[in-house]
Parts: sequence; structure tokens; C-alpha cells
Amino acid sequence: MIKKIGVLTSGGDSPGMNATIRAVVRSGIYFGLEVYGIHDGYLGLVEGNIEPMTRNSVREIINRGGTILGSARLKSFKEYDVRKKAVDQLTKHGIEGLVVIGGDGTYRGALELTRMGILCVGLPGTIDNDIASTDYTIGFDTAVNTAVEAVDRLRDTSSSHQRCTIVEVMGRHCGDIAVTTAIATGAEMVITEETGFDLPKVLNEIRQAKKNNKRHALIIISENITDVHALARLVEEYSGFETRATVLGHIQRGGNPSVFDRVLASRLGIAAVELLMEGKGGRCVGIVDDEIKDSPLEDAFTKKESKIAKQIRVTEVLL
Ligand code: ADP
Repeated sequence: MIKKIGVLTSGGDSPGMNATIRAVVRSGIYFGLEVYGIHDGYLGLVEGNIEPMTRNSVREIINRGGTILGSARLKSFKEYDVRKKAVDQLTKHGIEGLVVIGGDGTYRGALELTRMGILCVGLPGTIDNDIASTDYTIGFDTAVNTAVEAVDRLRDTSSSHQRCTIVEVMGRHCGDIAVTTAIATGAEMVITEETGFDLPKVLNEIRQAKKNNKRHALIIISENITDVHALARLVEEYSGFETRATVLGHIQRGGNPSVFDRVLASRLGIAAVELLMEGKGGRCVGIVDDEIKDSPLEDAFTKKESKIAKQIRVTEVLL
């Protein structure tokens, strides 16, 4: 049986990463393991920025956003020689299993480490909800609640001034944040990679909304689709609606995690440690139909279209 495990957070941070670290550390200690915290993701792993964790290292963090271990991006981790340094650090510290908390890039790093003989388990710490092997990623619920709160505020002022408001939300290449925010705020329109972006249709619909004497119109759009400020100018010219664009940006990554994310983090953290104790690596853990499930890391990379399609249907009927 393994005796020492490590935990790191990597890539874009998400609310609930701390609750995940806490669950890994506390369950590891509960099961009799030594747990090491690795600072700044794969960068700290390569540099040997590694320290033992105790129950106390993770006290009073379940409610805190960000990650006490820090996160980083290390492009050169794609190179074998750089990853070899990481493997050497793990060997030097006697760490036999690794829990990585992050998004799909982090999972790809874990897959490469697995191929080099390291026992790795991935946990989905990202707001984007773009990991196919889980219904929800840790941080998505908090991020979407933050986005909804912000949009509610924008709607108040948009309605007072008879404006069209365009709000860009995060999600990289996954429209879940946008579609969920749009449903929850009763937006007029949602634009994501999955819905497609049909500019003439957008302009016509907003013009029609203005003709129908709507006091305001709300468009939720995912990042990486178009320049929302340029879109706002076009909408204003074409529809006669005074139009403003707001990019929510990193505000969606911060803040105290929601109850849902804290509980999810806690359940997934324990499952990851249990897998390592069973000697199972190259796996990732997620929640599917409220059951904790593990699957090969590769399963995380396929696109989760079916679920988004159902959500888009809701927007088509109700918006
Ligand atoms: P996220 O995990 O949030 O998707 P990134 O895409 O930035 O964030 O990935 C985090 C880190 O994972 C990268 O900085 C890099 O160190 C590592 N990584 C990403 N892709 C690969 C890959 N194909 N091979 C090895 N390591 C990778």
C-alpha cells in the first residue's frame, strides 16, 4: 500500500479548490497516509516546492476562494525533459501518488505523468464545466451564481434606461456558464459555440424587440465568440436600442464557494484518495447522476454536447 501522496492545483483557479485540497489532505491523513502539498501546480512540482501538510494546514479554508497552494501555468511541461524533473522530485520525496486539481490542460499533464509511471488522479477544478467525465466541475456552480448576480444588477440599470445589455461570460470553449446564466436571468438571447453566432439574426431579433416596445434586452454571450464592444455598436446602429457591453471576466473565478461546490469538492477529494490507495492511477473522478464515478483521464477530453443541447432547448422555449 502507498504511504505518501501529493496534491497540487493547476491552470485557471476556481472557487472550491481549497475545499478540494482540504478533502484530499484530511482524508489522506484519516486513512493513515502522509500528504504533501505542492505549490504552484506543475511549476512547483518541477522546482521541488513541496511541503508536508497536516490537518491544521487546511483549517479554515473550506469557505475561501482561490487556492492556498497557488496555481501556475507551465507551458514547458509538455516537454519530456521538464516532466522528468517532476518525476525525479516525486521520487526524491518518496511520493507515490498524486492528486491534480485543475481543468483539461492539467488533466493532459497528468496523463503524460501517468505514461511516465506516476500514479495520478485528476479532480475537476475549473469554472468552465468543460470536463466531459463529470456533470459538474468544482467551481462552476459558484461562478454561475456570481454571473447571475452581476447580470441581475445590470438588468436593473438596463431596464431603467431602456437599454440593450450584452454580457460576456467565461467558459472558454464550453457554453454552460452562458446558457445557465441566460436561463436563470431570463435573457432574450444566448450565444455560445454550441448555439452558433448568426449576426443578422441577432440584429433582427433585437430590432424586433425594440419594435415590440420592450424596455430592455439582455444578451448573454460566451467569451471567444466575438468582440462584444463592436457587437454593441452594431446592435445600437441597427436596432435603435442604446446598447452597452460588459465583460464579467475574472470576477467569476473569485469568491467564496457555494454549498454545492463545497460538498462536491469534499466528496470528490475523498474518492481520489481512495483510488490512489487502491493503486489506481490514470483516472479522473467526477459526479454523474449524483454518483461519484471514476473514469480514464482520456474520457475527460470528449465534448459534452448532449447536456448542453438540453439546456439550449430550455432557452429556445423560454427566452
Ligand atoms: P487548465 O488545467 O485550467 O485547463 P491549462 O490549460 O493552462 O489550464 O493547463 C494547465 C497546465 O497543464 C499547463 O500550464 C501545463 O503545465 C499543463 N499542460 C497542459 N497541456 C499539457 C499537455 N498536453 N502535456 C503536458 N502538460 C500539459
